[in-house]
Amino acid sequence: MDFPHIKREKEAVRVRTRHILMSFAFIMLTIFLILIIASRTSEAGGINLSGQAAAGPDNALGDISIPGVTQTPEPTVRPTVYRPDIDVSSWEFILANSEHNIGTYAPEQTVSIEGTAQYFDSRAIDYLLAFIQGARDAGFTPYIMTAYINYSSQEYIFNGRASQIAWGGTYTYEEAVEIARTVTSYPGTSDHQTGLAVDITDRYYSSLSSADIDEDLLNWLAEHCAEYGFILRYPALKESVTGWNEPWHFRYVGTTAAEYIMERGLCLEEFLELYE
Ligand SMILES: [Zn+2]
Repeated sequence: MDFPHIKREKEAVRVRTRHILMSFAFIMLTIFLILIIASRTSEAGGINLSGQAAAGPDNALGDISIPGVTQTPEPTVRPTVYRPDIDVSSWEFILANSEHNIGTYAPEQTVSIEGTAQYFDSRAIDYLLAFIQGARDAGFTPYIMTAYINYSSQEYIFNGRASQIAWGGTYTYEEAVEIARTVTSYPGTSDHQTGLAVDITDRYYSSLSSADIDEDLLNWLAEHCAEYGFILRYPALKESVTGWNEPWHFRYVGTTAAEYIMERGLCLEEFLELYE
């Protein structure tokens, strides 16, 4: 028996299936073409990933990509941490602390600070004078308590302190020396022996304590020291590294290093470690 309506239906299903398959093939072909065009465009130079990766403080311009030319990325030496390009073996970076005893080191030449009995390394005196003047211009009356201390003076101060501690008889002299190390620098380990350190207060004090000194002055000094090439040598937050917390003690290192150190809240020890 012949069933023309079934035949017609079968034919219609076949035609529909063909349509669906052809549409699918067309869509796939379109996607394929789009992908090819997209990959060509990025190669032709719109986007250059290697150039972007190389851009940084040491390579400010990055790579310039030329349309149509595929660049082979050159290996770039990139330090993991950015650090200023300076020679830390220079005199400004001399480090004196309990682990780096500078022995009898003395600056080449020292000069009096504004005719006072306090001396400073002549190579950095102009920066110190500008720093002091800056504080005056801001309405403060900065006072230089202590600047350069030579080796023999430091030795004298230290031995005096140790003798004082041993005097009552509670401690042996050896024990007194160990105690003295925690309150005053051992000869050769004082930042003041570099000739680049200065204790700035608002007036004369017989012994220093941050509680007495005008807080506004200390804040101004910490905020502006880097502009004059100075750093806060013993920041409160770095006492575990340096052993000291002295908001009045500033140290010359030059403006480039000073700005880097103060912006990042480092101490001199941490800064110099970046160059080891
Ligand atoms: Zn000091």
